[in-house]
Amino acid sequence: MENIILIRYEEIFLKGLNKNIFENRLVDNIKRKLSNMGNIRVRKSQSRIYVESGNSDFDVEEAIIRLRKIFGIASVSPVVKVPSDYEVIKDTAIKVVGDLLEKNSYETFKVEARRGDKNFPLNSPQICAEIGAHVLRNFPRLKVNVHYPDFILYIEVREETYLYSQIIPGARGLPTGTGGRATLLLSGGIDSPVAGWMIAKRGVDMEAVYFHSYPYTSDRARDKVIKLAEKISEWSMGIRLHIVPFTEIQLEINQKCPHEYLTIIMRRYMMKIAQRIAEKNGSLALVTGEAIGQVASQTMESMLVTNHAVSLPVYRPLIGMDKNEVIEIARKIDTFDTSILPYEDCCTVFVAKHPVTKPSLSKTLEYEKVLDEERLINEALSNTETLNL
Ligand code: ATP
Ligand code: MG
Repeated sequence: MENIILIRYEEIFLKGLNKNIFENRLVDNIKRKLSNMGNIRVRKSQSRIYVESGNSDFDVEEAIIRLRKIFGIASVSPVVKVPSDYEVIKDTAIKVVGDLLEKNSYETFKVEARRGDKNFPLNSPQICAEIGAHVLRNFPRLKVNVHYPDFILYIEVREETYLYSQIIPGARGLPTGTGGRATLLLSGGIDSPVAGWMIAKRGVDMEAVYFHSYPYTSDRARDKVIKLAEKISEWSMGIRLHIVPFTEIQLEINQKCPHEYLTIIMRRYMMKIAQRIAEKNGSLALVTGEAIGQVASQTMESMLVTNHAVSLPVYRPLIGMDKNEVIEIARKIDTFDTSILPYEDCCTVFVAKHPVTKPSLSKTLEYEKVLDEERLINEALSNTETLNL
């Protein structure tokens, strides 16, 4: 008897001829995530992935926690693997149910069996009936309920036999590294970490840029963004964070441009700098946490003007979401508590009393002309610090 983990994937099946590329990437990502958990074998077989360990002290629970943060996995099950011998299967069923009843006050169950190996003497309904009766004999407190059982004992008879009762949902999405690269504009707020996570979920490698306005924004604000990037990196198999000094640019804009246009011009500079960084790291898109109408700089008019600053596509995965929908995801991916820590963000330091909600593109371009764009951007880029998280 061996404790192993069974991993299922779904969307990869739609990939036709490219299926292998997606499967192999998923296997590699699993190996990387579990690499420091001892002697581990990750095996692909019949559109499933099995994680097996040679160590008796293999921490299945810890492995499952890590697997649940790997995109491309639909679900995982801790599984007991035994030879496909009917007597062994019967004994193991009793052991698996016994372990389960030690921790849970279950009263009803059913058996679901699948026979993949047609040489096995019993067919699936026979396995269900026989093992079900055997369980009932051994655990008089249990009853069968085929419609609403407290637990299901799954038995899959293949070359070997797998028994389990739990199907734990995975992160879904597509394996990291199969979707190209994108650069996220990451602030310390609630929205941008969620936006980054959503794009990463589609298999995209992430790079992040944070604009830091020291001393108007403190080192604690910077640490908060690093922490958020680390949270995303748990899902995205790592992330590179570029910290761009932004004070000089903000002071210049503040001094030389009409105040109601401060925010929009500042947002255009963020876009332009992010695009320079993105082009260097091979990104195919920028990502922001904007949603229509959330604040003055996120009206459709404002986003038209910010978009105009760059030629790369700007992905805004939250565009049609309400704030509480975003918060729900932020809680799920555990960025919310960090995001709400009360450190100032650079946009709240330099805000106009009455920012335009419907900026005009031609006016924006006119107002921007007084700025020495190349010098400002090059200076910011040459003082950018990059962290590998
Ligand atoms: P968030 O919760 O992500 O901060 P927000 O609702 O506060 O978003 P804004 O401050 O208008 O919205 O920012 C819109 C988007 O611009 C953010 O989602 C983020 O992608 C980007 N952004 C804003 N400030 C910064 C910053 N200091 N560094 C990097 N990106 C930023
Ligand atoms: Mg913000």
